[in-house]
Amino acid sequence: MLKVAKFGGSSMADAGQYRKIRDILLSDPSRRVVVVSAAGKRNRKDHKITDLLYLCHAHTQYGVDCTAVFDMITSRYLEIRDELGIQLDLETEFAALKQRLDAKAVTRDELASRGEYFSAKLMAAYLGFQFIDAANWVKFQFDGTVDQEASYEALRKQVPLGQGAVIPGFYGLMPDGHIRTFSRGGSDITGSLAAAALDADVYENWTDVSGILMADPRIVENPQPIPEVTYDELRELSYSGAQVLHEGSIFPVREKNIPLNIRNTNAPEDAGTMIRESFDTDADPNRFITGITGRQDFTIISMSKRGMSNQVGVLRRVLSVLERHNISVDYVPNGIDNVSVVLPTEAVAPHLYTILGEIQQEAEPDTLDVHDQIAVVAAVGRKMSHRPGISGLLFAALGEAGINIRMINQGPDELNIIFGVDNRDFAEAIRVLYNSFAK
Ligand code: ASP
Repeated sequence: MLKVAKFGGSSMADAGQYRKIRDILLSDPSRRVVVVSAAGKRNRKDHKITDLLYLCHAHTQYGVDCTAVFDMITSRYLEIRDELGIQLDLETEFAALKQRLDAKAVTRDELASRGEYFSAKLMAAYLGFQFIDAANWVKFQFDGTVDQEASYEALRKQVPLGQGAVIPGFYGLMPDGHIRTFSRGGSDITGSLAAAALDADVYENWTDVSGILMADPRIVENPQPIPEVTYDELRELSYSGAQVLHEGSIFPVREKNIPLNIRNTNAPEDAGTMIRESFDTDADPNRFITGITGRQDFTIISMSKRGMSNQVGVLRRVLSVLERHNISVDYVPNGIDNVSVVLPTEAVAPHLYTILGEIQQEAEPDTLDVHDQIAVVAAVGRKMSHRPGISGLLFAALGEAGINIRMINQGPDELNIIFGVDNRDFAEAIRVLYNSFAK
């Protein structure tokens, strides 16, 4: 049995968190491969090490001395080291890095990667595990993607049999020998790659919440965590708003059918959220909605044209106007002689009048209307499919709350029911659905 455990920035923020991690690892000896982030915030006013590293690099780029920021970074690590009594010379490495930095010899990516690097060095020394540098196995190609097979093989050769290893997240090596980072939050990807490389039994992603929540906690008070979610549901949930994992972290484990478990470093006894391709049993048969999410600020362009249903190519003409403006269309609800396109306002607003003019000219609709300040709410749940009456229940609850629905859409896989409301009804719609169906 092998578990790959990735700990995010808040789990690595101070010495107390290191102690919690050690206890978590000791409680389950199969957690032998550990992937770590750079130290994150200790409290709301604190700074993430990665942000400070980027700031430091920007200073040097503009010829401004970054010693003060650099010292903030080094003292965070030295504090953790000294509080835990770890014997490790970090000072020499810090001094060498600063010297190269002053000489403008460190790239932005390399500097950013040092947050994870020092975290991993410290954690490896603290646990008595082997340090495996990500630069020695995460192999990027020139197009910025990871060469998975080559990376997997390299890692397999380096992981000690039956012993513990700590790997820094977030970065790897380009073919030309330069360090390259993933996009922000990318340590999730490193963890997933490590789990896939080693054919782990589970990839644990330790963070500061007890799993993916059923709704946004800024909208719903104390929402419950989702115990089980499929990869497809997760995709729906994240597309419509919920941000839990780095998108790129799904593919490597999913491809190998490795379950992904989101856990809370601060509440290790909580089971968290288990993400899998599918579930054989149903942990909670009475609940048919997995999560409720959504996004605000959409624009709906609606048009009607008498006899449209018998004409060929009207929809294509409308869509090609949007394509020319490089706007991706989120939903296309339609009726017999009318069709609407739902678009992110941010993308459409700067070109709105040009777009309307072009649609008018090319599709010649009888009416053309625009509604903005629209929010899209999605009720996601694999158990909704083949179950009659669910949308009726949802819409009845919203109707009773006096919320006007502006658009309805259901994906063909029946994994979600999506509807548009006014931005001002967004939070209330989510609360009504949560209170009616999720509790
Ligand atoms: N430290 C990096 C960031 O803040 C990567 C990570 O933590 O996943 O984005």
